[in-house]
Amino acid sequence: KRRFPNEPEYHQAVHEVLESIEEVYNQHPEFDKVNLIERLCIPERIFSFRVTWTDDKGQVHTNMGYRVQHNNAIGPYKGGIRFHSSVNLSILKFLAFEQTFKNSLTTLPMGGGKGGSDFNPKGKSNAEIMRFCQAFVTELWRHIGPDTDVPAGDIGVGGREVGFMFGMYKKLSREFTGTFTGKGLTFGGSLIRPEATGYGNVYFLLEMLKTRNIDIKGKKCLVSGSGNVAQYTCEKLIQLGAIPVTLSDSDGYIYDPEGITAEKLAYVKELKELYRGRIREYAEKYNCKYVAGGRPWNEKADIALPSATQNELNGDDAKTLIANGVIAVSEGANMPSTPDAVNVFIDAKILYAPGKAANAGGVSVSGLEMSQNSERLSWTETEVDNRLKVIMSDIHENCVKYGKGADGVVNYVKGANIAGFMKVAKAMMAQGVL
Ligand code: NDP
Repeated sequence: KRRFPNEPEYHQAVHEVLESIEEVYNQHPEFDKVNLIERLCIPERIFSFRVTWTDDKGQVHTNMGYRVQHNNAIGPYKGGIRFHSSVNLSILKFLAFEQTFKNSLTTLPMGGGKGGSDFNPKGKSNAEIMRFCQAFVTELWRHIGPDTDVPAGDIGVGGREVGFMFGMYKKLSREFTGTFTGKGLTFGGSLIRPEATGYGNVYFLLEMLKTRNIDIKGKKCLVSGSGNVAQYTCEKLIQLGAIPVTLSDSDGYIYDPEGITAEKLAYVKELKELYRGRIREYAEKYNCKYVAGGRPWNEKADIALPSATQNELNGDDAKTLIANGVIAVSEGANMPSTPDAVNVFIDAKILYAPGKAANAGGVSVSGLEMSQNSERLSWTETEVDNRLKVIMSDIHENCVKYGKGADGVVNYVKGANIAGFMKVAKAMMAQGVL
């Protein structure tokens, strides 16, 4: 905190991991001899740069651009790009730190990184988005590559933005390589990549429910967010007979007691993808409740899947969820629960999966996209989906292995952190002091 003041999100993420791994770390004095913890917490490299772009009226704007290359002990840096007005180094450092352990959990050879800009994509035209992406990559391109650092999407960056960034990267590098993932299907993208984070989260939830013989069918689910992760979380829940009843965005949330059906979800996708509409419009169309400025955690349900952003669920929200009978919380977003909320879930011994385990499906299929690009082959939807299921089940097994307490209850936070940490730590030890 002394060295990196004013970085609360980064401190929060580091604190949680250090707390979980303390016991195993102390069992390995050789780690401390080479100052492993400090080396693991401080990013290997950070780039920050100015991004200058021109809007449709000819006005010139400047934004900040960043790439945090956190750790490449087990593979090339890998992690998304976020475009959101709130982006700063604290947020990107927390995300890159989390990504390192998440990628380690996926069983695939990927290191951790994250990047982005404080550019606000809301209300921008297609041409403005393209010019911004091109300006961003004009600087970023020299720091990335298929064996160096492979970015993908995140908040505010979907298939369209990845396409524009990949196009500019290809032009500058004069090579067609798999340097971005989340690409369009016609130029090296993988089937199931758009769906992977949301689907993967539900696959992880199913594994957790299995440990207590609970059927997902008929369970009411609170989902927050209404972007990529929230949409495909709902899609899989609906396919499995669960009933998502909420969605949100930064302006408020909707509560649809009848349940969000496949047809209604198709409308949400259209609303969000085609003209970046507000979730309020859902309530107007389907005549249901809309709470301006609110978050969905006060509504009664069985399961919660926070899928919007960091720290969107606090200790009081967690207590309300528990009082309302929630049996499981599975995080689609990164660090959506505050430390207080995490403690409430763990004390209540409900099934609680932290994002670095539950939302690892996205980066896993990104890893599979990298494999397909290297082979210059495309796998079928069934093959990718089956691999995703196996990966989520393996992550779950690893969490149980390291997180099961004497009372038989699994602490998935501890399990995920220890499993993720041990692999990276062993790789760093083997590669010497760097
Ligand atoms: P999108 O941009 O597609 O959607 C984000 C959603 O969250 C939008 O509904 C947005 O509302 C809402 N949101 C964003 N910021 C805030 C905020 N400060 N307060 C309230 N609502 C907010 O992003 P994704 O769905 O891709 O990402 C969602 C989360 O999942 C993030 O935490 C991301 O890091 C994580 N994640 C994503 C992966 C992926 O593959 N895409 C992989 C793993 C994790 P609005 O439109 O109003 O801004």
